[in-house]
Amino acid sequence: MSNITQLIHSIPVDELTGAIAVPIYQTSTFVQEAPGVNKGYDYARSNNPTRGTLEQIVAQLEGGAEAAAFSSGLAAIDAVLKLLKSGDEIVAVDDIYGGAFRLFNKVYEKFGIKVHYVDTSDVQAVFNAITPATRLIWLETPTNPTLKISDIAAIASIAKAADCLLCVDNTFASPVLQQPLLLGADIVVHSATKYLGGHSDLIAGLVITRTKELGAEIKFYQNACGAILSPFDSFLLIRGIETVHLRVKQHCINAQAVAEYLQQHPAVDKVYYPGLSSHPGHEIAKRQAKGFGGIVSFTLKDDSEQAALAFVTGTRYFKLAESLGGIKSLLCHPATMTHKSIPDEIRRAAGVADSLIRLSVGLEEVDDLLGDLEQTLQQRVVRKVIDEQPVLVV
Ligand SMILES: *Cc1c(COP(=O)(O)O)cnc(C)c1O
Repeated sequence: MSNITQLIHSIPVDELTGAIAVPIYQTSTFVQEAPGVNKGYDYARSNNPTRGTLEQIVAQLEGGAEAAAFSSGLAAIDAVLKLLKSGDEIVAVDDIYGGAFRLFNKVYEKFGIKVHYVDTSDVQAVFNAITPATRLIWLETPTNPTLKISDIAAIASIAKAADCLLCVDNTFASPVLQQPLLLGADIVVHSATKYLGGHSDLIAGLVITRTKELGAEIKFYQNACGAILSPFDSFLLIRGIETVHLRVKQHCINAQAVAEYLQQHPAVDKVYYPGLSSHPGHEIAKRQAKGFGGIVSFTLKDDSEQAALAFVTGTRYFKLAESLGGIKSLLCHPATMTHKSIPDEIRRAAGVADSLIRLSVGLEEVDDLLGDLEQTLQQRVVRKVIDEQPVLVV
């Protein structure tokens, strides 16, 4: 059976009624025959049939033993950090998602957890950062927004030798392209808000574990702390997952075309996309993933913030918004949006230039997307390069 057939048939038919779609069990509690004698459910924070079905589907999708669904990606990350205790240390990717950085540094540091940020695309740097107190290695691959690639299998063996956990935030790749648990990671987290949901209509998070034991610990924190995904959002997420294979495949095709187009454009300086052979992580990405994803970043030859702002407000189909992974193309300017809270020098040192633009390439006809980029570069950027005229400033 192919993976896709397996995915589609992992979504069960409702045993009670035969409903082919997963029912939304919109209930807070479940009637018991006697105290503790029930049909497997007692209170909907602890377990809900709609959420439980989602969790089974997702565990299978990532090749894990257990999954737990949370009310946001950050709530999922938070649940993983609760496996640690005061005095423990984390080695994390330096190009980390801003919200994770805030959670690590502004919340968990207060409780005595220390984080070392390193360039995890350099395996030796990860090895060197490990101390006897390291309990967790935290990866994102590809990263946001410079799409750096880290070698999951190599870092998994370092984690194993050092007796610490490896967690991979797999949001950018999605399980369609990359299954970190099968490469030796212990935990995978997702902002399911992005590709898994896929329609920009919900906020959700997932934790998937390789072992049942670790899964039980995560479920303990899910219930004890309470940031669960609602039955309706669980239903929406199942609906998104039903087409994730098709969507991600097309996101990859469109993104590759966009990256190749930008690479040859005279007004564009650098293009960041792991699907380009010029990308430093290209070979590792090819080995550990089935595709290169839907996110493309680039800088303009005109490296001013104004040029980038003129570009991001000049497109027609690429809508200016934070977030990614939906059917509609989005773009953002990390320096003034997602990475605004990071001091300028640190942001620039991490490769996020003032003129860097991040595209979440959607599912529109690719020629329309290329046309949109072309007209924007012509009107807003090339004109300046050619005529030395000031760009339109917003
Ligand atoms: C969006 C995102 C998150 C946070 O997820 P929310 O659902 O917004 O809480 C975490 N990691 C990555 C890589 C993301 O892109």
